[in-house]
Amino acid sequence: MILVSACLAGEPCRYNGLGFTCPAVAALVTAGKALAVCPELLGGLSTPRPPAEIFVDRVLTVVGEDVTAAYHEGAQLALKLARQAGCRTAILKARSPSCGCGQIYDGSFSGRLIPGDGVFVALLKQAGIVVQTEEDKIIGMNETGE
Ligand code: SF4
Repeated sequence: MILVSACLAGEPCRYNGLGFTCPAVAALVTAGKALAVCPELLGGLSTPRPPAEIFVDRVLTVVGEDVTAAYHEGAQLALKLARQAGCRTAILKARSPSCGCGQIYDGSFSGRLIPGDGVFVALLKQAGIVVQTEEDKIIGMNETGE
């Protein structure tokens, strides 16, 4: 069982109320080979919601709200689901403050990228789960979810 970001499977759970469908990821879920989770929704956030970025050790929205606790709570719940399903690998949404792997936005909301992991990915790596992004695995994505 592969762990995947729910938005990559087409669920409209992103901050902007849309999904980010990756056909190959959606096919894995349909075939019963992948578990789709959205750690931000599991943490109690709603969609749509203000965009957020990691700044040092906090997660802040564009309007300055500190949502760090919700991000960590959702990551823990999503990790629990991943363990229950026996996931050892993951394909997660690139550059997200939760699901980003290896590269995230710098907290200035200016589009600048820095090396780093999202909150969920940092936790998964600690748990020994191997993470890749949809950009590592698959070419061809479409914004969906309206
Ligand atoms: Fe997608 Fe992850 Fe953001 Fe949820 S937290 S919308 S699964 S990138």
